[in-house]
Amino acid sequence: KEKLRDDALLKKSFSLSKKNWDNEDFDWSARLRKSLKDVFKIEKLRELQLPTMNAIMSKEDVILIMPTGGGKSLCYQLPAVISKGITIVVSPLVSLMEDQLHGLHKLHVKTTMLCGKADKESVKMTMNALVDKNSDLKLIYVTPEYMAKSNRFMNKLQKAYELGRLERFAIDEVHCCSQWGHDFRPDYKFLGVLKSMFPGIPILGLTATAPAKIIVDVQKMLDISGCLVLRASFNRPNLYYEVRRKPADKETCLAMMENLLKNRFGGKSGIIYTTTIKDAEQLTTDLRDRGIKVGCYHAMLEAEYRSEVYSKWMSGKYQAVIATIAFGLGIDKPDVRFVIHHCVSKSMENFYQESGRAGRDGKKSVSIVLYRLADVFKLSTMVFQDKVGLQNLYKVLTYCLDQTSCRRSLIATHFEETWNASDCVEMCDHCRKPGVGKEIDVAQYCRQLYQIMTKAVQNETRLTALKLVDAWYSKGASSLRVSNVPVPRFARETAEAIIGHLLVNGYLQEDFHFSAYSTISYLKRGPKSGLALNNDHKILFNYELH
Ligand code: ADP
Ligand code: MG
Ligand code: ZN
Repeated sequence: KEKLRDDALLKKSFSLSKKNWDNEDFDWSARLRKSLKDVFKIEKLRELQLPTMNAIMSKEDVILIMPTGGGKSLCYQLPAVISKGITIVVSPLVSLMEDQLHGLHKLHVKTTMLCGKADKESVKMTMNALVDKNSDLKLIYVTPEYMAKSNRFMNKLQKAYELGRLERFAIDEVHCCSQWGHDFRPDYKFLGVLKSMFPGIPILGLTATAPAKIIVDVQKMLDISGCLVLRASFNRPNLYYEVRRKPADKETCLAMMENLLKNRFGGKSGIIYTTTIKDAEQLTTDLRDRGIKVGCYHAMLEAEYRSEVYSKWMSGKYQAVIATIAFGLGIDKPDVRFVIHHCVSKSMENFYQESGRAGRDGKKSVSIVLYRLADVFKLSTMVFQDKVGLQNLYKVLTYCLDQTSCRRSLIATHFEETWNASDCVEMCDHCRKPGVGKEIDVAQYCRQLYQIMTKAVQNETRLTALKLVDAWYSKGASSLRVSNVPVPRFARETAEAIIGHLLVNGYLQEDFHFSAYSTISYLKRGPKSGLALNNDHKILFNYELH
């Protein structure tokens, strides 16, 4: 029975996807074009905007997957403007809602928002508008928490529905519904009631998170399985992708940053991402000491100070902003020429979004990741409690460890797309200068590491990655060294890369312990250790040993 249902849903979704949603002969096509120009002052629609709007205006449920900055908001804002009733927009972040509200007010589109901090008067006005046939309110932005908690609002929505004033729901960041996402929010669960509570009212889910598993989960949760799924390409042809080893020595690393900012990116505008607030502040001071004009931006700064940093950067007084990921939402600077990750991102989704802030104007721009294994362990202690935190982080590690593949193809695979490496035209480090990595078998090294770990267990000590590498090179505490394990004849960096490779492939695993002040990541044998202990087992790694 279940299978029959799934087949039917698949068929439905397939036939929906075959419809020509790009037509311009719908009842609303002329109105849509006119408002696009008159209200939004936009001449040309971008990829998938028209199909999405046509489908949602046809009362189909739609999930739109489009990279950040692609223009998802217009897909519900424009339909809202040309519809008589009200469009409800569910959005997780009040700051995002405020930005949009501000933008829409400038275009003279009647919009309000409901959230914990909305004032009484405006709440009353919104509630009345829902059931007032003469109101010209077009959009109501609401947080999922508010919906889940406010019976009054749900009651008014029901009345609006009965009066035929409820046009559609747009659910922004819809991946927050799924536990598999990098951003699960329990309050999104409540949205599961919408379909049965308001039959016939179309739902538009919007996200930049693409994996099929997440999309299927979201569809189930919203009770819109088999709906039309529109997927825009994630390829950013004008972005050049590069990964560099981050020097372990701080001064060397700073010299490298200085060189990048003064020479390669001299006179150009960019963003430098760090993981922690402390790192952002320190790096700002260090680069200023070297005469580089940079501003610092993170969540702990006063809003006033932050907006000052932002405008100095927008106007070119600062060459770069050094920021934690708090900096991003709502950035609208077209000529960002470089994004440097001073520390790896915690997921490919984050990386894609952060690096994607470069080159919005379509001109050539650069994404550089400075990678070091130690940074991965710093992050892992921050993310391991999320259900898929480590899994997400290891995907980034895999991206960084790769020495031969086209970076675009790696990103494409992650977003379940296929791009040909020939699409890259030397727009990544590996396509410009093909890697010389060879397939090597690292199983022997894995077994050597296990020997060191066994000894540590006997000594009732735990090994951080740093201590493990030390012991391998016969350095550090002598009690941790194992005499019959040979000292590697390759560089420490290579040793770290091998450890990274064993980690992402399950031959090693992290083991987290809490100390009084922090969480520490130790390494132990992974779930695949049984395999590795077999002398015939090969663990292949495409890497240039040096
Ligand atoms: P997303 O939600 O997909 O990240 P937004 O909806 O915030 O993206 O849009 C990003 C920017 O693109 C906004 O400044 C928006 O005004 C602009 N935009 C959207 N569609 C178009 C278009 N067809 N032409 C020009 N600019 C557009
Ligand atoms: Mg958006
Ligand atoms: Zn490439």
